[in-house]
Amino acid sequence: MKPNKHKATHSAEREFGGALGATCIPVFLPLTVLYLLSVCRSPAASVLQWPPPLPPAAHLWDPLAAVLIVGWITLQSFLYLLPMGKVSEGLVLRDGSRLKYAINGFNALSITAVLLLICLWLGMPLGYLFDLILPLAVCAIGVSYLLSMYLYIRSFWAPQHALSLGGNTGNPLYDFFMGRELNPRIGDFDLKYFCELRPGLIGWVVINLGMLMKEVELRGSPSLAMLLVNGFQLLYVTDALWNEEAVLTTMDIVHDGFGFMLAFGDLAWVPFTYGLQAMFLVVHPQSLSTLGAAGIILLNGIGYYIFRKSNSQKNQFRRDPTHKSVSQLETIATATGTRLLVSGWWGFVRHPNYLGDLLMALAWSLPCGMLHILPYFYVIYFTILLIHREARDEKQCRAKYGLAWDTYCRRVPYRIIPYIY
Ligand code: NDP
Repeated sequence: MKPNKHKATHSAEREFGGALGATCIPVFLPLTVLYLLSVCRSPAASVLQWPPPLPPAAHLWDPLAAVLIVGWITLQSFLYLLPMGKVSEGLVLRDGSRLKYAINGFNALSITAVLLLICLWLGMPLGYLFDLILPLAVCAIGVSYLLSMYLYIRSFWAPQHALSLGGNTGNPLYDFFMGRELNPRIGDFDLKYFCELRPGLIGWVVINLGMLMKEVELRGSPSLAMLLVNGFQLLYVTDALWNEEAVLTTMDIVHDGFGFMLAFGDLAWVPFTYGLQAMFLVVHPQSLSTLGAAGIILLNGIGYYIFRKSNSQKNQFRRDPTHKSVSQLETIATATGTRLLVSGWWGFVRHPNYLGDLLMALAWSLPCGMLHILPYFYVIYFTILLIHREARDEKQCRAKYGLAWDTYCRRVPYRIIPYIY
């Protein structure tokens, strides 16, 4: 097949600050990961300290980290390819076809958990992940760069209909960042779908467990705060993998190409910044009262309830609007033939799932106390991400549903937080 470079120039409005953003973000975000990890491990843990507690270059590289990262991705690839779980079809693509996806992420998590238990039983020092965290992050960043380069180059041999609409502007830096090909595959191995929920997401909870084990090494037992952070985030990851099929209808899979933005986000950003709280607790132990812990558990429970119920309601409605759990809900028609929910969770605010997610994010930070801003990094970043994501989604829905979307916005005026936003 001939390279497609002369054909692939869709005119698309540029996102993430256009070419300038796409040039700066791949430099700025990897440095941010390393900076956050370094500050988190420093005694002051202050983002304002000057000079920042940057590690010497020699602390950034360890061959063991490279072995672990390659071994980890190989293990997760192997589990992905195992013939377990069901096979689902994705949404209809532009050429009318539908791709098949193995829904076995939960099986991969369960097998990984058993393997980890065996490792612990054999006495492997999982707490060493704390000491190795910077070289591990450097290797994960390196892998995401290499993968993005491979994805960019191979996209020139993809057929026109397999390219994403947003990542084919003809500007190499922007397209490298956004991703040109929508669903790059090697045989049946779907690279974007694999990266979306496996190595990074499962890696995140493994790193958390490593932090817990480091705390045990240092203080004899895990603290209540550490147990809460580990428990909450494990629930979140388990939920994502249990409901893996739902990822097939998300923006990332349906709309975005696979480029640096998703590769880096999935493989480096998520595992190394979402769990900063556990790392913070290793160096900055917190004592938590039973009442405080109960309040935080309640907050996480409420957030999880809103998040899960609203996501499930929409997924059910999209899969089968006649199902008894959603058939009584009020809806409005759109010109595309698809209906929009205007009652139930989606009549409460326009993104109830984001509201639940944000409440959980806050509950993950609170066990770290109120004296440092760093453990609140996730909730601050996530608020910005979800506001931006909501705006992107809103734009797409308005383009797709036109007047019906405006009617929905009038009926449900608040985006994420009732009476506030
Ligand atoms: P959503 O699940 O919010 O889906 C948005 C889509 O839902 C719209 O494009 C539209 O698609 C459909 N929709 C919107 N309003 C209605 C309505 N009233 N009735 C029926 N359908 C409607 O998208 P996301 O992928 O952003 O989020 C999924 C989950 O993942 C969320 O819980 C979010 O918080 C979480 N998330 C977590 C991240 C993390 O890093 N932890 C990052 C990003 C997301 P259509 O009409 O075409 O079906």
